[in-house]
Amino acid sequence: MSATKAVKPVGTIKQIATGAKARAIAASEPVAPKKKPGKTKKPLAPERVAAILDALCKAYPNAVCALTHRSAWELTVATILSAQCTDVRVNLVTPSLFKTFPTPKAMAAASLPEIEELIRTTGFFRNKAKSIQGAAKCVVEDYGNKVPQTMEELLKLPGVARKTANVVLGSWFKIADGVVVDTHVLRISKRLELTENTTPEKVERDLIKVIPQDHWIDYSHEIIFHGRQLCVARKPRCVDCSLETLCNSSDKTWTSH
Ligand code: SF4
Repeated sequence: MSATKAVKPVGTIKQIATGAKARAIAASEPVAPKKKPGKTKKPLAPERVAAILDALCKAYPNAVCALTHRSAWELTVATILSAQCTDVRVNLVTPSLFKTFPTPKAMAAASLPEIEELIRTTGFFRNKAKSIQGAAKCVVEDYGNKVPQTMEELLKLPGVARKTANVVLGSWFKIADGVVVDTHVLRISKRLELTENTTPEKVERDLIKVIPQDHWIDYSHEIIFHGRQLCVARKPRCVDCSLETLCNSSDKTWTSH
């Protein structure tokens, strides 16, 4: 039986330095880069993106826009109202709003306080009332009472930015001009390493590059469902997620406490 000789650890000058000297050395050391979220080798590889899209499609085969609407106009208004507000809350407000002002013409002729009163609970109601009325006037005066079907024209409506325009084009007209980027799409696309950006415009640009155009509309719907059901902002329910093997997000969570 051979005896193992204990070897005393020998410290380097840096390791044994203490006090002020150690602090001085530490200050001169290069700072280790923060661990980057995600560690997939080729996160944008077409086969990985295809696997993500496939998993989403299987998990949420019936994902559609959750805002109640019967026309392009109602969807435009509902999407404007959904800023900083839940779809559930918007759906509580829109029936009486559209009953009182059923057409863009009626909305354009309404008084602002009347509109404000009907949409008060969606928050930011003064600005939203102005936007809705302004959009109604624009639709009536510039577009012959019809919501336009191009990004360029939609962006001319007050209160309509790319997100709202993409919602209307995609969900109503079935035109894939871009990708809807809301808070869920922003957060989860980053977790899935499909983008490293944080602003909706840049994230949309990234997604357009990696997602085939025939998935642009469904991707947003499915991700929004995923964000509501599992991949929530805090403590995503990764144990139940069918994308788990594809996801290397640094904030994966396995417990609910
Ligand atoms: S594994 Fe977790 S973090 Fe990744 S997509 Fe699924 S729920 Fe989101």
